[in-house]
Amino acid sequence: MTFPRIHQLPESLQNHIAAGEVVERPASVLKELLDNALDAGATRVEIMVEGGGQSRIQVRDNGHGILPEDLPLALTRHATSKIHRLEDLTAIRTLGFRGEALASIASVSRLRLASSTSGGEGLVVEAEFGRLQAPRPVAMGQGTEVIVRDLFANVPARLKFLRPPTTEARKCQEIFQRISLLHLDVALSFSQAGRTVFSLPAQASLAERLRLFWPEEIVDAMQPVESVGPVHIVGLVGDPSRAQGRGDRILLAVNGRPVQDKLLVRAVREAYRGRILTNEFPQVVLDIRLDPEMVDVNVHPAKIEVRFQDEGMVFRAVFQAISRVLQAGLHREDAPLPMASPMGISPSLPPEPASRKFAQTRLMEHLAVAAEAPAAWESSVPQAAAAPPRTSSPLPWRYVGQVAATYLVLLGTDEVVLLDQHAAHERVLFHTIATTPANAQGLVPPLSFPVHASEVDTVEALWEPLTRLGFALEHTPPCLVVHRIPAILAVARAKDFIIDALQGSKRDLQALHARMACHGAVRAGDVLSPSEAHALLEAWWNTPEREFCPHGRPTLIRLGVDAFEKLFKRRG
Ligand code: ADP
Ligand code: MG
Repeated sequence: MTFPRIHQLPESLQNHIAAGEVVERPASVLKELLDNALDAGATRVEIMVEGGGQSRIQVRDNGHGILPEDLPLALTRHATSKIHRLEDLTAIRTLGFRGEALASIASVSRLRLASSTSGGEGLVVEAEFGRLQAPRPVAMGQGTEVIVRDLFANVPARLKFLRPPTTEARKCQEIFQRISLLHLDVALSFSQAGRTVFSLPAQASLAERLRLFWPEEIVDAMQPVESVGPVHIVGLVGDPSRAQGRGDRILLAVNGRPVQDKLLVRAVREAYRGRILTNEFPQVVLDIRLDPEMVDVNVHPAKIEVRFQDEGMVFRAVFQAISRVLQAGLHREDAPLPMASPMGISPSLPPEPASRKFAQTRLMEHLAVAAEAPAAWESSVPQAAAAPPRTSSPLPWRYVGQVAATYLVLLGTDEVVLLDQHAAHERVLFHTIATTPANAQGLVPPLSFPVHASEVDTVEALWEPLTRLGFALEHTPPCLVVHRIPAILAVARAKDFIIDALQGSKRDLQALHARMACHGAVRAGDVLSPSEAHALLEAWWNTPEREFCPHGRPTLIRLGVDAFEKLFKRRG
């Protein structure tokens, strides 16, 4: 056996290896070329893609160009004009800085780079799978043009992993769209196999651009976010009632750079929590801008991940910026029908300072629910006297009756409202549980559940939150004995609740609250007397976030004249 000697890899091989990280697919090439054009201050960028980008990607810009003597350097690894010394790395203000994109791309394609700093005369250099040819003069306007052909033709393994051209082309379009939303002052065009797909004029608004990519009715229901401070947030957030089963309409960027960041996505989801179903996703387009010194962008070769110095601060900023908009949105007068934002009913609705607490409960973990204090709700049947003591505005509708023992029908001057009695009561109880000290009822005899050895951990994890909710528990293996239960649960439902909680995957307090509210609430099919219905309506009307149940389902549907006219085909 020959001894394994160490040797320096040739530069071509180094580039090839780097390409493995930077260039995953045609869309990554497009991203790097677009970044370069934007870093060069271009105000117009034209993109042409053929064969899903594998055959050809061409990006032409009118930026400042590259000096003739620097042209070969542009294709050299670790050669960049964007940083000079170590300190620069801590405050990156350009999209690129690693100086390896062009070299990497050139090592796995036939690349042609032409550039002119003045217009008229320029210089062009070509490279074939990493082998540079001598530069030649070329006539061209000011700017830079890069053509990348036969991507991965020398890397069969990579070629094999590419998706069909239509898929790769779509990925190119996606990255184009994301970047275009972050550079509204730049005119951009994208054509594919000779056909113009997008032609975006400069000085557009975010909504104008977005409308070209997403359905209009979704974009039109989005609301602007603008939040200033050390973390400056701009963008648009979607209407909760239009949430979708797809998660790809959450586009987040940090300092103008599209990122995939779990922390940010969590902040978004947290802000929508309770307003959308758990398997739904909102539409959110945000650029999060902060001092470049507070974010490290040098953690991922393709720069799609970042690291924040103060994660908590960024999380809170995003969460609060979105929450504020959603909260305000619920007070809009022109709320779309049906099912959406029903709080526009009365323009003079009082502000609801308590509402935002909900989404924050888990975050703040501040709920102290004492075991013995009186509860607002004494039983699972609504009682008028038990309505939360708030300065209440009167219900703007008249209660007419119950349909299918499930929906309460309400009449306004120009609308009919259907309220889901279970969902509405759930919301009321959820609020009560979260804000009022628990009231408990003793059980004689106690309830007893067999606890399997595998469930002991679960019981321990649930112990404290259950106690806070008003349960008195005792663990005498192999049984869990329940001596007291919260007053809002009937005994039969307390049993279901415990079983449900032991089996449930989510154990945070808010999930338990939602679950308990669900078990305590009147059900679909329960016949309510008019006085019970009125009591429920009044309590519901005075509960924050009343338009959604704790799981995010709507509590009511409003049918206005508009809806009637459509149904009766009076109007198109
Ligand atoms: P980076 O962008 O990280 O510096 P690249 O390999 O992408 O590295 O590009 C190398 C250098 O080539 C850049 O620093 C820049 O000076 C120059 N360059 C590349 N593309 C352009 C362009 N479209 N316009 C002007 N200069 C460019
Ligand atoms: Mg670059």
